[in-house]
Amino acid sequence: MKIAIRVLILPLILLLNLSIDLLAKEKDLKMGIALVAVGEVDQNIIKILKEDLNKIFGKQVWVGKGMPTPHYAFNKKRNQYLSTMILNALMNEKEYIPFEKILGIVDHDLYVPELNFVFGEASQRVAVISLTRLRQEFYNLPQDRSFFHKRALTEAVHELGHTYGLGHCGNPLCVMIFSNSLIDTDRKGSKFCPKCKSNLNLQSPR
Ligand SMILES: [Zn+2]
Ligand SMILES: [Zn+2]
Repeated sequence: MKIAIRVLILPLILLLNLSIDLLAKEKDLKMGIALVAVGEVDQNIIKILKEDLNKIFGKQVWVGKGMPTPHYAFNKKRNQYLSTMILNALMNEKEYIPFEKILGIVDHDLYVPELNFVFGEASQRVAVISLTRLRQEFYNLPQDRSFFHKRALTEAVHELGHTYGLGHCGNPLCVMIFSNSLIDTDRKGSKFCPKCKSNLNLQSPR
């Protein structure tokens, strides 16, 4: 009899453990940020962003399945990609539904109709950033990886900040001030001012 009970209990414990594991995983996913390479993107940058965004937002950061080059968003006349169309594609992709926020990373020059270019764009849940204008080489200057990494983080934090409920800030040293040029991006850095930090709405919506 004792043996029979043991035989029964063991699979039960295993099953229970397994279901707790699955539950925990599902919960983590819903609280997390998905990083999605849209087209070909430097994997090193994704790795750096994954670690740094986890520290800054205190959220699980996952590297989502990449998306193909966004040919649908290409504007031949401008030789640029319409960021809003990439946002929509990210929002509509079933793969990313479980994630709380999605950050698309593109290595093409982005625009919205009323501006010459944008470093990124965000909606309530989805954001996209472009790496193209963050390289020194874009401005015919010698390559500098550390500048490139710092700028990518600044733009990622800025756009994710919008998805967590922040608007633009007036503080020139706050990551949430609007960047007109790379000079603004370099000046502000990737940190929130105390006011923006306290206004971040990091509660999981689900
Ligand atoms: Zn902004
Ligand atoms: Zn601020």
